Amino acid sequence: MKATLASVRSVYTDLARRPVRRDCLRRTECCQFKRTGKTPQLTRGEALVAAHGFRSTGRKHLPEPQDGSCPFLLPQNQKCLIYESRPFGCRTHFCQPAGGPLERKDVLDLIRRLEQIDTELGGDGPHALPQAVAWALDQG
Ligand code: SF4
Repeated sequence: MKATLASVRSVYTDLARRPVRRDCLRRTECCQFKRTGKTPQLTRGEALVAAHGFRSTGRKHLPEPQDGSCPFLLPQNQKCLIYESRPFGCRTHFCQPAGGPLERKDVLDLIRRLEQIDTELGGDGPHALPQAVAWALDQG
């Protein structure tokens, strides 16, 4: 498990080193899934990292927001509870103020690495964040 988490985190580190300007201002607009109509899709490795980040806050049960926002978005301050562990999609998202979506060709090698980890974990490709993280939290 530790090696898996490290492999996924190394993808995130390599993404941050890409010479593509990103300027996430933590506006959290992209965390409003229902409003935007877009939900990040997570591979199993990403889900395990997100679940690990969630557990490290001392929480055990994933909230089910009634407004269709991300379960990791804290309603009291609109901050991401797992920002350092947020999935790939949250780092390459469609937020225009942050620079718009990254082009797939610029990160395809990183996507392939996440897909490879997913396969090694018996996954069948990405799933919507709430379902993917629920699976990861079930892994103990
Ligand atoms: S994981 Fe964090 S950054 Fe990603 S959608 Fe949820 S609250 Fe937003």
